[in-house]
Amino acid sequence: MDHIRNHLKNSRRVLLVSHVNPDGDAIGSLIAMGLALEAMGLSATLCNASPIPAVYRFLPAVQRITDRIDGTQTYDTAMVLDCGDLKRVGNRLMEAINRIPIIVNVDHHITNTGFGHLQQVEPFACATAEIVYRLIRSFEVPVSRSIATAIYTGILTDTGSFRFANTNRAAFRICEEMVALGVDPSKVAQHVYGTYSLGRIKLLNLALDSIEISNNGKLSLMCLSQGMLQETGTQSEDADGLINYARSIRNVKLAAMIQERPNSGTHAEGEGRYHVSMRSDGTVDVSEIASYFGGGGHVSAAGFTIESTLSNIKSEIMGLADTL
Ligand code: 5GP
Ligand code: MN
Repeated sequence: MDHIRNHLKNSRRVLLVSHVNPDGDAIGSLIAMGLALEAMGLSATLCNASPIPAVYRFLPAVQRITDRIDGTQTYDTAMVLDCGDLKRVGNRLMEAINRIPIIVNVDHHITNTGFGHLQQVEPFACATAEIVYRLIRSFEVPVSRSIATAIYTGILTDTGSFRFANTNRAAFRICEEMVALGVDPSKVAQHVYGTYSLGRIKLLNLALDSIEISNNGKLSLMCLSQGMLQETGTQSEDADGLINYARSIRNVKLAAMIQERPNSGTHAEGEGRYHVSMRSDGTVDVSEIASYFGGGGHVSAAGFTIESTLSNIKSEIMGLADTL
């Protein structure tokens, strides 16, 4: 902690970035840390390569997040949040970050590659927002209601509303403190879980219909195509959380959701680009499986992106059922 605080005390201009297809932790951590650095008197640029999902657009200062950086600006420090691998920021931003003298890596993925010059990587933290909270406390700046809302949202969403295996004492302790600082839990929950588009609910219907289960009942598989997104007028952000339905089936130890990425038809015969999300009941380490395929994550939530045919990916994943 102190090594990062001491470095920042000598910094002026910081570029903050989190992972593509951001979730509540990636966005909440970005906002909380950005506002805290400003409270320390630094200049902070908040950046994410992907659009911000509609359900997170209520967050304070969210409009400050930009998807491109001004080439004329220089930064002395890049802070990369919630990324197990620097590539997770997206290729364009990775090139920009690699030109910045000091890279700070703040993350909670067990598969973190240890990139950067300064690290605060805590695999037992429930969310990157938990680590961000402790860093901000070490900076000794006041935690405003805006910062508190961002931290609360990061912890709430990454723990699946305090249900997933990463839910720890810190999750409750920090969230209690954030509520004391003015966060309204029902308002946050209403934005995050109660403002879905009708299309998203229709997409859920298609996703549920796609569920296949292995012969031994231990593995469930969901598939989402670009056609399904078009049919329901949704975007890939609307697929967030759907995998939890596949995970919640009795006896299922491992659930996977294969999601077709846009423009995936431009590849060799029948091949496409797919993102595979995996969730386990905690008895299977899905971060290991994801790492094998070039991705990463946590013991019970991980993912990877692959170029192959859908049938190859499906049979490869279904083949895992016998090992469960
Ligand atoms: P999801 O697959 O649901 O997007 O992500 C599940 C978890 O795995 C998240 O913590 C996410 O950051 C991580 N993850 C997903 N895809 C990748 C990937 O391609 N590389 C790495 N290192 N982590 C990933
Ligand atoms: Mn996270």
